[in-house]
Amino acid sequence: MAERLQKLIAEAGIASRRKAEGLITAGHVSVNGRLVTELGTKVERGTSIEVDGVPIQKERKHTYLLYKPRGVISSVKDDKGRKTVVDFFEELPYRLYPVGRLDYDTSGLILITNDGELANKLMHPRHMVDKVYVAKIKGMLTPEEIHSLKHGVRIDGRKSAPAKVKIISTNREKNTSIVQLTIHEGHYHQVKRMFKAVGHLVDKLSRERYAFLTLQSLTSGQYRELTREEVAKLK
Ligand code: URA
Repeated sequence: MAERLQKLIAEAGIASRRKAEGLITAGHVSVNGRLVTELGTKVERGTSIEVDGVPIQKERKHTYLLYKPRGVISSVKDDKGRKTVVDFFEELPYRLYPVGRLDYDTSGLILITNDGELANKLMHPRHMVDKVYVAKIKGMLTPEEIHSLKHGVRIDGRKSAPAKVKIISTNREKNTSIVQLTIHEGHYHQVKRMFKAVGHLVDKLSRERYAFLTLQSLTSGQYRELTREEVAKLK
């Protein structure tokens, strides 16, 4: 919503509205890098406002859904110089970081945000977000193995939470299967370790859904910003 510039300056605790008007007419205030001296100017919240070159308005929160390709690291920086998930947002002026992790060789849906509150909430173990993965695994799952995955398997002395398991397809000749696994836990290598616990290696892994969000028409490497409604629903 657009507001009078002096109101936003006053709200930021810089000066009273009257004094803020004085700052504007005296040429101390710029909006998006441009000097503004008109008193009637209205500005959207979340726009960059500076008084004597010092930013006074908080950065607006942005959350994006990225279709992470394989071969990209889920962090802000990489010591080895590999491409990171935030490199896709280079042209944006925000300090973004990923919500949780996908392995270097895992593709699929990952949220990228500058909203620390949202990220903390989503990553908290008590906040149970369903995540749907599709894995190409070696071999075929037996009914007993499916039962184990559904009811929890032992990983490092800890039992995994119940999962939903759906066999999408099997290839007898190649001895591989495509399996959909729905979990809410997000421990390190969770999916790969769950399959390993029942004796199967994961060849390829992709995250297809996070809560109610899916990749829809995005292709690998593309992103879109979440709507306010979507962000509110996630919280
Ligand atoms: N589980 C894994 O093993 N890897 C991922 O990237 C995500 C979940």
